[in-house]
Amino acid sequence: MIAIDGPAASGKSTVARKLAKRLGFSYVNSGALYRGIAWLAGEHHIGPNDASAVCGQMRKSVFKFDLQSKELVFSIDGINPEAHLRNEQVNQTVSSISAIAEVREFLVAHLRTFLSWDDLVMEGRDIGSIVFPDTLYKFYIDASLEVRAQRRAFQGQRDDLFYRDRADSSRRSSPLTIAEDAHVIDSSSLTIDGVVGEIVGRLKMKGLLTALRLD
Ligand code: C5P
Repeated sequence: MIAIDGPAASGKSTVARKLAKRLGFSYVNSGALYRGIAWLAGEHHIGPNDASAVCGQMRKSVFKFDLQSKELVFSIDGINPEAHLRNEQVNQTVSSISAIAEVREFLVAHLRTFLSWDDLVMEGRDIGSIVFPDTLYKFYIDASLEVRAQRRAFQGQRDDLFYRDRADSSRRSSPLTIAEDAHVIDSSSLTIDGVVGEIVGRLKMKGLLTALRLD
């Protein structure tokens, strides 16, 4: 289990997916699940600050999770929301939704079960600190706000990173923090392959590649 945390647009999704491929692990983007609940609330015209309505709908809905081609896919009430997860409504509401303690408990419980399916590279905000605090392999990928904003603009997305970072770091329930034993990588001036290379180097040092016979 390899945990990759970091703020929005730090490059962690691309890095985590590439790393998973290189190691033969499955890739789980935990942010997609928080986004899924933000999408669900929007579909039912529930405001992100109405925690009891959000949780009521979440409890009523049917979630299905699966690994396809070594990536987590999911549906909510029979719909795969993937195409909607990065729209403006979701970008604007997901930080409030993910600050609801019951939403976090629900998703963290699911995230933990995926480990029985395969070896995982899981990315998010609290994977090394809360979801899998015992894993030996924790990384925190950062980048300057300027570089992250450029990356989002390049992706053609409207996303208030500054607002999301502040909300994610200041919420009461498992805020974005750097786990004490995480290896921090500043990706501002690194390429994706550079970041993956640094992680692989670290995993080599810790003996994981030898154990996987990838040396
Ligand atoms: O990773 P991504 O930017 O897609 O995550 C969207 C949002 O989901 C974050 O801004 C954060 O509010 C929430 N999130 C979280 N905990 C995680 C992953 C994502 O609170 N482990």
